Amino acid sequence: MTETVVVTTRGAERLRAGHRWIYRTDVAEGTASAGALVAVTDTRRRRLGDALYSDRSQIALRMVTVGDEQASPGLWRARLEAAVRFRATLGIDASAYRLVNADADLLPSLVVDRYGDHLVLQALSQGADRLLPELVPALVDLCAPRGILARNDAKVRVLEGLEQRVEVVHGEVPERVEVVEGGVRFEADLFKGQKTGLFLDQRENRDAAARYASGRMLDCFTYNGGFGLRAARTCERVVALDASAEACARVRANAALNGVTNVEVREANVFDELRELDRAGERFDTIVLDPPAFAKSRAALPKAISGYKEINLRALRLLNPGGYLVTCTCSYHVDEATFGEIVYAAAIDTGSTVTVVEKRMQGRDHPVMLGLPETYYLKCFVLRKLR
Ligand code: SAH
Repeated sequence: MTETVVVTTRGAERLRAGHRWIYRTDVAEGTASAGALVAVTDTRRRRLGDALYSDRSQIALRMVTVGDEQASPGLWRARLEAAVRFRATLGIDASAYRLVNADADLLPSLVVDRYGDHLVLQALSQGADRLLPELVPALVDLCAPRGILARNDAKVRVLEGLEQRVEVVHGEVPERVEVVEGGVRFEADLFKGQKTGLFLDQRENRDAAARYASGRMLDCFTYNGGFGLRAARTCERVVALDASAEACARVRANAALNGVTNVEVREANVFDELRELDRAGERFDTIVLDPPAFAKSRAALPKAISGYKEINLRALRLLNPGGYLVTCTCSYHVDEATFGEIVYAAAIDTGSTVTVVEKRMQGRDHPVMLGLPETYYLKCFVLRKLR
């Protein structure tokens, strides 16, 4: 039997405004087992939809249907199919991309990424975790993968009281998988790499950066060399920076895989290295800044803003007139307007004249859901320094 959970007036308003989550503080009445599908109503018992329930997370309900739509038995498969079909229309020039982007595909807390013939999934709430026995066979049927890996080691699972587990749930998954993006080959470690292996959300921004890149390029926070290797063909020389020795080794391996010889990898802290490069009088025509999220919470915002400002300021200083700065933030808490203010302040402080050529976000395979601002986290500006 389906349990009913009643939400407060504030919670109901939130849902009517298009949000898809209800916090525990907005649950007025009712409970259910971990990950159960429940009916949701307002305090006057009017139906609001169906949701997946969590008995641990602060996010108690994640909506699956809204209004009169009923969660039917074929729902999950139909939604997976729609998600897969949508990606097929995007004309993606890569063998690795996101197939299912959680709420934005009406599949709360479920992430599925394709890496060539292999899939990597993440079940990030009790509800998604409980559905895996149904979702895995549906994915096998729809995508016919050689193997599916469950990368269920994301930290958010702890908040759901779920264990950290990485396991092959279908077929076989090798330790290293080779993928192609814009004609460049990359190795992905699906078991241990960050996220599900690679930063797929930046794929289209790497496409964009490769279109602008020329001359001497500096790729800061390179990880696997994504931006730098994509641009190496049109650049004279690329300097790629990362603080992790493992990341640097990966960039070298990927460069060798592509027969690329004009990429120099330096293991360094970007903050220090930007200062060093300036002191040494080095200049670049293309610079990419793709740091990790500096603001993981709202409380971390002031410090994060000064970090973003510093790297943007130093990068603008190192940029030749006519050069491009591709600058990103993946902090949800740094919204587009705030990021705009940061780069503006950096431009003023360096005395440079800068135009905004493009404002970009995460790739189209990671769509943003209107009403759910949490799904808009990645901002990427392409700036041109005039002088
Ligand atoms: N640009 C990459 C993704 C970058 S992820 C892509 O397109 O796929 C962020 C990277 O920044 C990680 O590899 C991490 O090791 C590195 N990093 C974090 N802090 C750093 C710092 N202070 N200096 C240099 N690298 C850093």
